Parts: sequence; C-alpha cells; structure tokens
Amino acid sequence: MQCEWLGERVAAPSLKHVVSNVLNKKTAGNWGPNATFRFPARDGTGGIWKAVAKTLPQDRFKFGQSVQRIDATNKVAHLSDGSSIAYRSMISTMPLDQITEMTEEAANLRPISRGLVYSSTHVIGVGIRGVLPPRIGDKCWLYFPEDDCPFYRATVFSNYSPYNCPQEDVKLRTLQTADPALSSQVDTQTERAGPYWSLMLEVSQSTQKPVDEEKLLADSIQGLVNTGLCSPDDEIVSTYHRKFHHGYPTPSLVRDGQLKQLLPELRDKYSIWSRGRFGSYKYEVANQDHSFMVRPPSLSLLDAARRRGRRRRFGAIRPPLLTFSTALTPPFSRYRSALRRSTMCFLAASSFRLWVSDVLPVLRRGIRRTSRRERSSEPDTDSRTRPYPSSTPTGVP
Ligand SMILES: Cc1cc2nc3c(=O)[nH]c(=O)nc-3n(C[C@H](O)[C@H](O)[C@H](O)COP(=O)(O)OP(=O)(O)OC[C@H]3O[C@@H](n4cnc5c(N)ncnc54)[C@H](O)[C@@H]3O)c2cc1C
Repeated sequence: MQCEWLGERVAAPSLKHVVSNVLNKKTAGNWGPNATFRFPARDGTGGIWKAVAKTLPQDRFKFGQSVQRIDATNKVAHLSDGSSIAYRSMISTMPLDQITEMTEEAANLRPISRGLVYSSTHVIGVGIRGVLPPRIGDKCWLYFPEDDCPFYRATVFSNYSPYNCPQEDVKLRTLQTADPALSSQVDTQTERAGPYWSLMLEVSQSTQKPVDEEKLLADSIQGLVNTGLCSPDDEIVSTYHRKFHHGYPTPSLVRDGQLKQLLPELRDKYSIWSRGRFGSYKYEVANQDHSFMVRPPSLSLLDAARRRGRRRRFGAIRPPLLTFSTALTPPFSRYRSALRRSTMCFLAASSFRLWVSDVLPVLRRGIRRTSRRERSSEPDTDSRTRPYPSSTPTGVP
C-alpha cells in the first residue's frame, strides 16, 4: 500500500496529547474529520438516499436488473432481462475492473484493471438483549487490531439512534448466549421484551487475509466475548451476515498509474464516466460524501457541453443526478438555466436541507477549484483537491 491516502482520512494526533489524555482520562477534542458526524435518526444510512430518491422522477429508476454487456461502439448497454438502453454518455458506478470485462472494445485495458487491488468485507450484525454495558459507554465504533477476534472494527449502531434496534416492548426470542455453552441456562423458547442494543462487525477478506466463511458468525460472536464487548451470558436475539465481494478499494503502490490509464480512456474513447467507490477506485474518496461529490465535475462538464449548443438528451439512462447535482453546485449563477428548467431541484434541496447545509460550503470551495481544473484538464477525483466535510454523513471511514 502507498500512504498518500492517509492525508485526510486518518487523524494525526500529537503524541504529547495522546499521552496526556490517557493519563488524565480525557477524551480528545476535535481530532479529525470524524470527530463529529450526522446520522439519520430513523431508517439508518439508507434513509439519506431513500429521501434523495423520492425527490427524483421515479420513471428514471430501474431496479432488479444489471448491466451485463456494453457495446461501446454503438453505445448500448445490455441488461440482464434481455433489454437494452442506448446512451450518449454513461455515468457508471460499477466496479472499474468489471466494466472493462463487460466492454469488448476495452479488452486492451483488462491487463491493467485486473491488477486493481480490493478486499472483500463481511458485515455481521448482532442484536443483544439488555442494556448497553457501561464499559462501552457512548462509543460509536472501536478498532480491534489484535488477533483474538476476526473483526477489525465494531460499530455500536444502537448508540447512533435508539431507532436502530427494536424498541423495548418488542418481544423477541433468544437465539443463544454469547458463549453457546450457556444457552441451556436461558429461556430460548419464549418471546420476551427488551431492552436491546446492537453491534455491527466488519471482517476483511482477501488473498492475503483468508477467512473461514462457514464459521465466521460463530467466530465473531466468540470474538465479542474475547474482546469484552459481550459477556458470555449475554442473550443474542438476532444475527445478520452478508459478504460484499467488492468491499474496500486498496490504495496499492501502482493504483494511481492504473487509474490514469483506465479512466481517461474509458471517458475519451467510449464516453463512459466511471465514478464512485469502485468506479473511481480510490479508498480515500470512497465514502458516501466523497462518492456524491466526485460526480459534479463530470456532470457539470456534460451540462456545459449541452449548454454550448450541442443540446442532447443523454439517452434513456441520463441520470437524474445530472439535474440534482448541478442544482446543488454553487455558484448558482453558473447553473441558472438548469435551475430554471427544473423546480424539482429546489424540492430536492429543501427536503434534504439538513445534509446540504453541511455539504454546501464544502461544494462551494470544491467547485471553485474544480472549475479551474475543468478548464484545463480531466476532472480529478483526488481527495486532496476536495476539502473533507466538517462532518461526514455517517462517520465511519
Ligand atoms: C462495511 C462498509 C462500511 C461503510 N461505512 C461507511 C460510513 O460509515 N460512512 C460513509 O460515508 N461510507 C461508508 N461506506 C462507504 C459507502 O458504502 C460508499 O461510499 C457508497 O456506497 C458509495 O456509493 P457508490 O454509489 O459509489 O457505490 P455503491 O454504493 O457500491 O453503488 C454501486 C451500485 O452499482 C450497482 N452495480 C454494480 N454493478 C452493476 C451492474 N453490472 N449493473 C447495474 N448496476 C450495477 C450496485 O448494485 C450498486 O447499487 C462503507 C462501506 C462499507 C463496505
């Protein structure tokens, strides 16, 4: 791995303050971009994007199908249900290494894209009966570099919002105790009331870090006991396990060189703008706020092309985000015509005011720099050109 990605992602505490805070049992103040963050009270992280989706024309969405093949010569995307969509410019959030596999014309790029490094992530949820132990307190997430548990991070989601786990009067059956040997000592037959608290665990997997997937849930629960997050007799009322094949893009030593070849060629030859977590393949700009923010440069370029007189419809897959993002991107004067065209943009902005109030000042600074870059070259997805928001939507890096 290279280390440039650390810049804005990892807090750089002063050793003196760390030692002094530990000795004085003090919590550090504003230690980095994640020191404070906002989280939806209800509906979890997805609530943010469901709220955004409601503000967009519903006929633009097509769910339950995937792009299987791209005919880049004729600019047609073929879907899994046999249908196809013609496009003029495509903004894609598919993993970059997959888009080259499904685009025959881009076969020459495959040797490069196959070298992109990523890790898979197992997300494991555990619901627990009882009151959150005081030893965990108000922590939001904790890291576990030791080898006594398979997870590297545990997130206490019930601390984010009381609505992230069932309310106290909801009756649930105990599945097992944290130490399964003690399960026979508790009632696992009857549904009983709470209170409840919850944990989300993350386990990374790659060729260099194999995982026993069959045993992972059991190993993780054992890890909760080993690390003191749970007591052996804690009653577990629900579990969840899902593997994300593309979990985290790895900032390898050769990554920047790979991206410099892949992204411009896809854009210039085939009008495919690969963006987002695995579209841009940059760990340091792969959170939700970043993934949202790396879109405006390409969108505003497309919009500028349209305004220059080459007015075009972007085919059936013209993204709704095109209108949405340009409306949110100051200075508004640049986009006056876009704003006039669509009152929907104002609805989007007002219904999402909370988040926008955080992001807007950052976008304002970012777009000034972006505008300069657009005039000269390829829109950049480098984190260092975009200031990190003072508070990210959901915090966890
Ligand atoms: C364990 C974990 C924890 C995280 N925690 C946080 C956090 O606390 N805060 C935060 O800000 N971010 C967090 N993130 C990152 C966050 O999930 C991403 O920033 C965000 O999802 C990126 O959005 P995106 O649209 O770029 O990509 P994605 O959300 O991955 O969206 C890509 C979309 O493309 C679709 N797709 C892929 N291939 C095809 C195809 N062939 N045809 C059609 N569609 C396709 C996928 O189905 C998916 O819907 C976390 C990520 C992980 C894995």
